[in-house]
Amino acid sequence: DCHRNESQRELEMGTKPHFVVIPWLATSHMIPIVDIACLLAAHGAAVTVITTPANAQLVQSRVDRAGDQGASRITVTTIPFPAAEAGLPEGCERVDHVPSPDMVPSFFDAAMQFGDAVAQHCRRLTGPRRLSCLIAGISHTWAHVLARELGAPCFIFHGFCAFSLLCCEYLHAHRPHEAVSSPDELFDVPVLPPFECRLTRRQLPLQFLPSCPVEYRMREFREFELAADGIVVNSFEELERDSAARLAAATGKKVFAVGPVSLCCSPALDDPRAASHDDAKRCMAWLDAKKARSVLYVSFGSAGRMPPAQLMQLGVALVSCPWPVLWVIKGAGSLPGDVKEWLCENTDADGVADSQCLAVRGWAPQVAILSHRAVGGFVTHCGWGSTLESVAAGVPMAAWPFTAEQFVNEKLIVDVLGIGVSIGVTKPTGGMLTAGGGGGEETAEVGTEQVKRALNSLMDGGVEGEERAKKVHELKAKAHAALEKEGSSYMNLEKLILSAV
Ligand code: UDP
Repeated sequence: DCHRNESQRELEMGTKPHFVVIPWLATSHMIPIVDIACLLAAHGAAVTVITTPANAQLVQSRVDRAGDQGASRITVTTIPFPAAEAGLPEGCERVDHVPSPDMVPSFFDAAMQFGDAVAQHCRRLTGPRRLSCLIAGISHTWAHVLARELGAPCFIFHGFCAFSLLCCEYLHAHRPHEAVSSPDELFDVPVLPPFECRLTRRQLPLQFLPSCPVEYRMREFREFELAADGIVVNSFEELERDSAARLAAATGKKVFAVGPVSLCCSPALDDPRAASHDDAKRCMAWLDAKKARSVLYVSFGSAGRMPPAQLMQLGVALVSCPWPVLWVIKGAGSLPGDVKEWLCENTDADGVADSQCLAVRGWAPQVAILSHRAVGGFVTHCGWGSTLESVAAGVPMAAWPFTAEQFVNEKLIVDVLGIGVSIGVTKPTGGMLTAGGGGGEETAEVGTEQVKRALNSLMDGGVEGEERAKKVHELKAKAHAALEKEGSSYMNLEKLILSAV
């Protein structure tokens, strides 16, 4: 029986292009790129997702959610990751597993060797399983050489939105950041007139920072970008105004906006990263007891950590605000004792239904939380995954960017789209790869009163608040429509499949 299924699959694959999808080894990257694999399969393509043993469960659990139809067309292949050979701890197979910033370069070295093994595997794919298109995470810079060798197109998935990629293209071409005299001087990045986009050097993505710790890798990223045949973005054309078309014009490459991919399956509570299924259920039960649009959801992505002093300023604002708060705190284990004590005294970790501030010390079921009717606002670090999930759920945001391209995303949220307020952060914080290598500022840049003002405006912003809510609601409807038959993302997926050889 098993054999028959296998040959049936081979037969089906014979008429369909075979996509090989290689996610970059970082949690927040894997989530959307595996969802893209699921969408390709739902559109009839055969897909192989290549990952490492320690990431297999994460990938497989998302594939399984794609439903019988889609999942049967997806194969998850694991290839060993040479962590130990590169001097990394055993099982360190995601960049967010790397124990200290000085080991990040070793992780990239291991990822290059992983690339050699992936190439060997792909060369052996023949017949209906021969590779007809490759989609790789930006850091797998070896992917285009492999695709060229096998005569297939190679597309990049950055995890960035089209607007921030467009800003990066402008920065590469015009280098305005090199003409300023201080890291805090504002300069224009006029990519989407009439909207203003003014940034400082400090706020730019990693590759434009003078002290980037893996500069030579960033040069390889750029070479990969220039060599790739096109760009796949988790976004939808109606969202970012003209950004996707302008990005295509600026790069001379095809740009496929195929999102929001978080809508491709219903949100799951049994994520393998969650401490337990019960925690996720407790979270949802706590939300069930709250009034519609009354809850403030606070979370800074998969890796965002605030210095303790900043966490306290935020915490005091959260526990004293009039709205119930669901606060996700990462790295609570490494906080100083007095901060931990304060958190225990002032927040609830058990999800007692009538508590005012529920703290989740681990992985929260974010997509399910954002789509819960009780959530009225999201304090976010503006990671693109979180931003788009908020749009897809129709939830307005308060922007608290940490690093990478998040300051650029803040401009999109607040100034271009008018669906959020700014907390007013000016400098990067936290993150494994921030300039100076992690930790960021030790002191708090943003005081409690500043946080409270932004929260008030987000949750109780009068006419302007209603306007923001209305706009994000309209975008939610457009997001869903984009993925439906004939919608822009649906059609872009079809075009992506047609570009395979
Ligand atoms: N996420 C989640 N639970 C958490 C933290 C993060 O489900 O407790 C998910 C979130 O839904 C999103 C991704 O992790 O899909 C974070 O991606 P984003 O681009 O926002 O930020 P990054 O982690 O790259 O900083």
